[in-house]
Amino acid sequence: MNDESKDSVAYSPLLLEYVDSESAAMFQEMVAAGDLSSPLLTCYAALQSELPEGERVCVRVVGTGNLVQSVNDRESREGHPFRIERGDGIVAAKTMPMDSEGTVDILLPTYVFSIEGVGSGSDTDLSLLLHTAAHEVVHARHHLLGTGPFDTCERGDFEWARLQFVAMAGEQLKEHVAETISGAKYPPAGISMKTLASTFDAFWREVSSGLKALPEGDPNRYGDAAYLCLNALHVVWKVLAYYAAEFRANDEITALPRELENDPGWRAMVGDWWPRYTTLLLRVPATVEVDISATDAVVLELAGLLQDWARSLGFDAEDRAEGGYFSTRHWPI
Ligand SMILES: [Zn+2]
Repeated sequence: MNDESKDSVAYSPLLLEYVDSESAAMFQEMVAAGDLSSPLLTCYAALQSELPEGERVCVRVVGTGNLVQSVNDRESREGHPFRIERGDGIVAAKTMPMDSEGTVDILLPTYVFSIEGVGSGSDTDLSLLLHTAAHEVVHARHHLLGTGPFDTCERGDFEWARLQFVAMAGEQLKEHVAETISGAKYPPAGISMKTLASTFDAFWREVSSGLKALPEGDPNRYGDAAYLCLNALHVVWKVLAYYAAEFRANDEITALPRELENDPGWRAMVGDWWPRYTTLLLRVPATVEVDISATDAVVLELAGLLQDWARSLGFDAEDRAEGGYFSTRHWPI
């Protein structure tokens, strides 16, 4: 092999932001020495091996000391700035939509993907890093398609409540597909029954304390209550979309663990919705290529299911002749 062909191999740019100069200098030394003991570099290397060479240059890998700030620098979220939402066991990396120059940024928080080797080295950490890289690569490649494959909410004129559910359904499907593809190659850490139980507990805690904290007489009170409850539901559903990926094999969802089916928390929050939910998830193939119209049809159907599911849990968001309506039986007035 001559030098020319060696030079022609393309890699993604690797950047750091919101990182102090001392850590940045240390990181540079590790890069120069080819020292892969840094989780950030291990993940970078995994991202490169997962990305087709022709797509690498369109993806930037960004190690950030402030994930929230890095996300908010890149998009405006209309009054609802990005917060970190995740269930236990799900690593908080974030892939941003394609920018106007056709670049997709994968953000890796340095408190998880530490610059120095702390926390790395165990087999679990390594497989989690590989899994996360494979997961984010699916997001990046979906964004690079440039067709907004799961952005059904942007392809229609939806009223308020419908828009919320269509947006949530699209995102859950997007996560489910990414997790299914990455999980087939690198098994995830796995969501335990304990994690599910704490996800459900956290949901009820967040809803009840959040609703209580809403100031009396605030004109945005209803909107804030709706956003709070729907967002909390969405966090639970995303965990379930991940969980479903663990059970998806050969276009089937395998049976749940017996003890889970009898678990009171599961039965109260999920129960009979599970087979209906996963049947819809299964209708979208776990591939990078996406048939937009077929996916949109599933997203719309899933949105209806989520709305019914929310109502059954006591959260009623709907569109009425006079406009968007929200009420919840968990919020006595
Ligand atoms: Zn994801």
